[in-house]
Amino acid sequence: MLDWSDTKPAATPFASGLAPSPADATGLGAIERGAARVTVDEKRMINARADVNQLLPLKYKWAWEKYLAGCNNHWMPTEVSMQADIALWKSRDGLTEDERRMLKRNLGFFAASESLVANNIVLAIYRHLTNPECRQYLLRQAFEEAVHTHTFQYIVESLGLDEGELFNMYREVPSITDKAAWALKHTQSLDDPAFATGTLASDQQFLRDLVAFYVVFEGMWFYTGFAQILSLGRRNKMVGIAEQYQYILRDESLHLNFGIDVINQIRHENPHLWTPAFQDEVRGMLRDAAELEAAYGRDTMPRGFLGLNAGLCEQYMHFIANRRCAQLGLAPVFAEAENPFPWMSEAMDLKKEKNFFETRVIEYQNGGALAWD
Ligand code: MN
Ligand code: FE
Repeated sequence: MLDWSDTKPAATPFASGLAPSPADATGLGAIERGAARVTVDEKRMINARADVNQLLPLKYKWAWEKYLAGCNNHWMPTEVSMQADIALWKSRDGLTEDERRMLKRNLGFFAASESLVANNIVLAIYRHLTNPECRQYLLRQAFEEAVHTHTFQYIVESLGLDEGELFNMYREVPSITDKAAWALKHTQSLDDPAFATGTLASDQQFLRDLVAFYVVFEGMWFYTGFAQILSLGRRNKMVGIAEQYQYILRDESLHLNFGIDVINQIRHENPHLWTPAFQDEVRGMLRDAAELEAAYGRDTMPRGFLGLNAGLCEQYMHFIANRRCAQLGLAPVFAEAENPFPWMSEAMDLKKEKNFFETRVIEYQNGGALAWD
């Protein structure tokens, strides 16, 4: 077993004889000329002493495998036909006013959220996660978030939606603003240029940001968002958007599972951070997040429609919140709730070679196709 309590900095032979400066955590600090080669034992999720610029030797195979899985899931929104959606959206009675309201607010929520998640990865998480295989995954994830933002650009363009209405919704619709503001306060606490991990308080701060974005944003709020659109798709409405959401869901379930693994690995390496008080705090975060989502559900679906309403979405959030607690080794936050949308697990089992890649018309340019002359 590795000894996680090992904190003796003098044992690491740096050529300069000095303990690594905080700049070394970024990988952009001065090069330690002639420093010893990296060993797996020196690699850490946070506060690593090993050079963060060396992917090999691999320590966390789960992170590398998620990077490969992400690459295998490659897709682009423009490969999905929007013809049926355009016809339905422009028809006078294809969608009810309630369905239109839900759809627009759902799109508005995701349009800004994809950017918030991307900015948090690139500007807050990446800097402090001091492991190259995890950073490799973060780089892949950052691109996937760009693909997701592209999806909302493509939907706006295809349906002829008001781009300002959709993209500015997170500043105009209070139930969306409340969710974004709740998550942002956790990334804002890392935004101070003087912020550095390495103390009990700052390491817990970093964990809170991981919980807010990976577990809550991507792992709870996105799931009710997927359920709303996929429930329309099950009734043969907005099938192009529903297909795009299935691809986003497949990506997001990897993002969530990566986040859970990161948090659990940090816990494993730093058990002193995971105090009973901190565990209660995390459970409180999930409870608050479920309440914010319930308010958003009532706002987006004041009346509800076939197979979907605010009450079912709230029940689904309780079910999901309890699952996330179990994944983090925490006691549940809600009374046992049944999954009101059991079909969501089928939607996650997307067979890409069956319903998408066999029929794709676009071929990605590969090395063999490049012409240099
Ligand atoms: Mn995303
Ligand atoms: Fe994501």
